Amino acid sequence: MDSKNPNQILNSVFGYDSFRGNQEEIIQHIIDGQDALVLMPTGGGKSICYQIPAIARQGIAIIISPLIALMQDQVQSLKQLGVKAEFLNSSLNASESYNVKSALRNQELDLIYVAPERLLLDSFLDTISSIPISLFAIDEAHCVSQWGHDFRKEYLKLSILHQRFPDVPRIALTATADVPTQNEIRRQLGLEDAKQFLSSFDRPNINYQVLLKNNPKKQLLDFIKTEHEKDSGIVYCLSRKKVEQTADWLCDNGYNALPYHAGLSSKVREKNQSRFINEESIIIVATIAFGMGIDKPDVRFVAHLNIPKSIEAYYQETGRAGRDSLPSSAFMVYGFGDIATLRSMIDSSTSNNERKRIEHQKLTTLLGFAESTSCRRKILLNYFGEETVEKCNNCDTCLSPVETWDGTIAAQQALSAAYRTGQRFGAGYLSDVLVGSDIDRIKQFGHNTIPTYGIGKEVGKTQWTSVFRQLVAAGYLEVDIEGFGSLKLNEKSKEILIEKKEIHFRKDKRKNKKSRNYSAKKSSFNYDEATFEKLREKRMQLAKAQNVPPYIIFHDKTLQEMAEVKPQNIEEFSKITGVGQSKLEKYGRDFLEMLSEQS
Ligand code: ADP
Ligand code: ZN
Repeated sequence: MDSKNPNQILNSVFGYDSFRGNQEEIIQHIIDGQDALVLMPTGGGKSICYQIPAIARQGIAIIISPLIALMQDQVQSLKQLGVKAEFLNSSLNASESYNVKSALRNQELDLIYVAPERLLLDSFLDTISSIPISLFAIDEAHCVSQWGHDFRKEYLKLSILHQRFPDVPRIALTATADVPTQNEIRRQLGLEDAKQFLSSFDRPNINYQVLLKNNPKKQLLDFIKTEHEKDSGIVYCLSRKKVEQTADWLCDNGYNALPYHAGLSSKVREKNQSRFINEESIIIVATIAFGMGIDKPDVRFVAHLNIPKSIEAYYQETGRAGRDSLPSSAFMVYGFGDIATLRSMIDSSTSNNERKRIEHQKLTTLLGFAESTSCRRKILLNYFGEETVEKCNNCDTCLSPVETWDGTIAAQQALSAAYRTGQRFGAGYLSDVLVGSDIDRIKQFGHNTIPTYGIGKEVGKTQWTSVFRQLVAAGYLEVDIEGFGSLKLNEKSKEILIEKKEIHFRKDKRKNKKSRNYSAKKSSFNYDEATFEKLREKRMQLAKAQNVPPYIIFHDKTLQEMAEVKPQNIEEFSKITGVGQSKLEKYGRDFLEMLSEQS
C-alpha cells in the first residue's frame, strides 16, 4: 500500500468519505499499539477497525474468526479492494494451503484469517513467531462465552497470544450487547486492561413491526408484497413442517423461497444457503438454525412467524437485516398459541428449575415487547441498558399509535371468571362465560349461574380473548399446558384481585388502519428503479464471471448512488461511496459504458 494514513486508506482503498462513530479512535488506538475491546452492533462497521490498522502497521495481521464462511467473505471483499489477504482453513486443498503458508512466511500478506484451532497449532505459532505481526484481531469474541449459542472452546485458549506475543496489540470485537458476556471476554482473553469502545446498539435503519396473528401466511405475503417485493429476506418459523409449508406457499405466490432446517441433507442446506448469498431476491424460510456466519449485507427483511424465546434472540435474529444500513424491516406476527407452545417447550426441557425460571422470565419480557403500546426501539434499547428518546418514528407503535383502554375492572372480571369456573378452562370458553353465551357446555357445567356469567356483554367476545392474551403475556394468568391450555391464577394475580391494580389494555385495532406501509424510511437516494435494475444486472454479470456474491462487487448503496448521480466519467465515478482505487480500475469502465447507453 502506498499510503499509511488511516483517512487516506479509508478513502483510497475502501472508497468511503469519513469514519463512522468511534471507528477513527479505535483505529488510532490499535495503530499506537494498544489493546481494545470493541462492542458495536451488527453492521456498525467493525471490520474496518482492524483492517485499516492491518494495512497501516508494519507486519502481518492475524484475524481469528470462528467460521469458514465469514473468512471467505472477508477475504473475497478485501481482494476486490486490492488488499493482500488470505485465509487458512480446511476448505483449502494441499497445494492452496501450501501457497498461503509460503506467502505468510515470505511476508507477502497484509492480513491472514485463521480459525482458533489452526492458530493454536504449534507449527502455526512457530511460523508467526518468526515474522513481524502487526496485530491480532479476535472477531466474534463472544464465542468465549459458555452461555451464548456460539460457544467455541478453542476461544478459551486464546489468552496464549498475550503470553507469547506481549508486544503485539490485540483487538477483540463483538456485537453482543449483554454485560456478563463482555466481562467474560475480558477475563478469558486476558484483556482486563484493554480500552473499551462501546457504540450504541441501535439499528436506526431497521423498522420494527409486530402484528397480532390472524392468518399468518397471508399477513406475511401482504407484508412482502407491499414492502419488499424484489428483496432478499429471512422468514423464521418454529417447526420444520411450518418451514416447508411457508416456503411452498411463497413459491406458489411467485417468490423464490427456499427452506432451511436441520431435517434437510447438508447438501440441500448448502445449496439453498449459497443461492441466498449468490443470487438476488431469494427468501430463506428457516428454523433458527439459519443465520450464524452469514454476512450478506442486503438482507432487507427478517420476518418471524413464531415469536423467539427472548429479546436477545429477537435482536440477534432481526439484526441480520440491513447490515448495509439501507432501510430494512423486522416483521413479527404473534398470537395466543405462541405463548402456550413456548411455555411448554421450556417446561418439558431438561434444564434445571433455576434455568427454567430464567427462561420463563425472558419469554415474559419478550411478550411484554410484543404487547407494548410504546416505542419498540425504546423497549429494546432500554433492555440492553441504553437510554433513548421516547419515540423513534420508525416502528409500528410510533408510526401508527395503539389506543389503550382502562381495563382495571375487566381484568378483575376476567380473573374472577377463571377462578369461579375452577381454573379448568381456556380463553375461548371464559370469554363465552363473560359475554353470557347461550351455549350448551356452559349450561352443562352450570356456569350460567355464577356471578361473572354475562357480566361483560358490552365488551364483546373478541375483546375478551384479547384481555386474556394480554393478562397471560403480562404474567397475571398462567397457561396450564397439561390442562390443555386452561388458565390458572398465580401469585401475581393478587395484584389485580386483591390490590385492585390499575391495568391498561391495548386495543387490537389500530387508529389509522390504512397505514399498512409502516416502513416510512425510504432510501436517501433519489434514483429511478429502471437504472438501478440495470446496474444490478451488470453487477450480477460481473459477480458470476468471478464466482463471487454480487455484494462483493458493490453494495446496493453504491448502486443506488450511481443510479442517482449517473456519473459520466472516471473522475465522477471515483467519487461514489464504496468506489476505491482498485474497484475503480476493475469496474469503472463497465459501469460507465452501461450508464452512457442508458442516457
Ligand atoms: P460489522 O462487522 O460490524 O457487522 P461491517 O464491518 O461488515 O460490519 O460493516 C458493515 C458495512 O458498513 C460494510 O459494508 C462496510 O463496508 C460499511 N462501512 C463500514 N465503515 C464505513 C464507513 N466509515 N463509511 C461507509 N461505510 C462503512
Ligand atoms: Zn418507535
